Amino acid sequence: MNTTEARCPCGNARLAIHAPPRFRMLCHCTICQRFNQAPFADVLVYRAADVQLPEPGTVEFSTWKPPPNVQRGTCPECGAAAVETFHASLLPKLTMVPRSMLPADADLPEPTAHFFYETRVADADDALPRHEGFLSSQWAFLKYYLRSRRNR
Ligand SMILES: [Zn+2]
Ligand SMILES: [Zn+2]
Repeated sequence: MNTTEARCPCGNARLAIHAPPRFRMLCHCTICQRFNQAPFADVLVYRAADVQLPEPGTVEFSTWKPPPNVQRGTCPECGAAAVETFHASLLPKLTMVPRSMLPADADLPEPTAHFFYETRVADADDALPRHEGFLSSQWAFLKYYLRSRRNR
């Protein structure tokens, strides 16, 4: 796969992505709603080693909620959600990139499931699995990640 360039709407925050995502998820948690300024987040999950993070200064990172194992970065110019770095036990370091950062014609997998569906703003109109609650959503995240490793 060639390198894919992800960029925010104003072009200030850019990431270089060197491998396909492990999986794609739709997250309805309230933090994702605020971070993405959207009813839910459409997010691609990559191994951190496959994504070159934006140049320092082009993204402002902050911790939205303890424990601080997720850092969320927005573009200081246009305010768009740009990137999330995630480090949990049992998993390698991961980097999550909003779908909106990638080119419209990027070759991407379909979403696997809905996460934190209990805090949804609106019901989803699809047949994807729905995971509710912290434990169920965390467990599903681990499951989809491990499945993606087996497939490659
Ligand atoms: Zn979320
Ligand atoms: Zn921007």
